[in-house]
Amino acid sequence: AKSKGAGSYAIFDDQLRERAMQKLQVTSALRDALNNREFELHYQPIVDATTERTATYEALLRWRHKGMLRTPGYFIEVAESSDIIIEIGAWAINSACEQLARFWQETADRPAVSVNLSARQLRDESFVDVVAAALAKNELPPSALWLELTETALIDDHDVALTILNSLSSMGVTICLDDFGIGYSALSNLNKYPIDIVKIDKSFIATLGSDSTQNAKDRVLVNSIEAMSNALGLVTVAEGVESTDQRQQVRNIGCRYAQGWLYGLPQPRFAPAATTESIDDL
Ligand code: C2E
Ligand code: CA
Ligand code: CA
Ligand code: CA
Repeated sequence: AKSKGAGSYAIFDDQLRERAMQKLQVTSALRDALNNREFELHYQPIVDATTERTATYEALLRWRHKGMLRTPGYFIEVAESSDIIIEIGAWAINSACEQLARFWQETADRPAVSVNLSARQLRDESFVDVVAAALAKNELPPSALWLELTETALIDDHDVALTILNSLSSMGVTICLDDFGIGYSALSNLNKYPIDIVKIDKSFIATLGSDSTQNAKDRVLVNSIEAMSNALGLVTVAEGVESTDQRQQVRNIGCRYAQGWLYGLPQPRFAPAATTESIDDL
């Protein structure tokens, strides 16, 4: 930018100011959204890869705003860049627990619910109380709750994050490492933090069903993640399973759980995966 002269700095400044304004506007819209109850959770089944019974439901945040149903891609980055995400996150945990408790009253099944966390929620130890209170209030055992975090949440302030995760883990909550294999993956995280479940990022699953060298290479990676996880006493979820080919490969590789459009889309209620075939058909 330097070579373009002083004028470009002014433009850059304007753009920065505009972006800051936009961020402020979205942040205040998010606050209104919380007050006006515009957030919803949609639930996607995570199934046992062999039996296809739903083990848990991942709660995915939605914002019903101006007649549109917004997915997190539209707002989560701004939300996560301010402390509003702490409130949204607490709302999500409470809401998910409340809805799960209601679902348990309606069925004999006892699936869990899995809630996504962001980095800021792991910076203050009072988060442990938020979780404990949500479970207690809804009379749910800690095993009913899975929490999903990505490795970006572990980069800074890792002492607090470690303390929080250790507390949650010893309470009996299941800790999942989300989007594993991309971004800031550090294998040592698997030992340093009390991780129970590794969610293999959907980008590795995407090519599994296709007949290509990328398929072969990604299969090596998924196989390796599976083997390593098993050796460490962890189990895996294959994310983003869309085709029956991918399902077959994920089964062959031995992933304990699977999730994706093939089994069920995110829906505004707990809807079990449509079992597409019986085990006898395999
Ligand atoms: P994620 O945790 O990796 O969630 C999986 C995303 O993949 C979801 O997108 C889901 O709708 C989508 N998905 C599910 N099955 C398939 C499939 O078979 N193929 C493909 N291509 N995609 C599939 P969504 O709902 O738009 O959420 C995006 C991200 O937003 C999530 O990624 C998560 O990082 C974040 N997020 C969602 N809810 C929350 C929340 O309550 N709190 C926080 N902090 N983040 C959230
Ligand atoms: Ca997730
Ligand atoms: Ca993921
Ligand atoms: Ca296995």
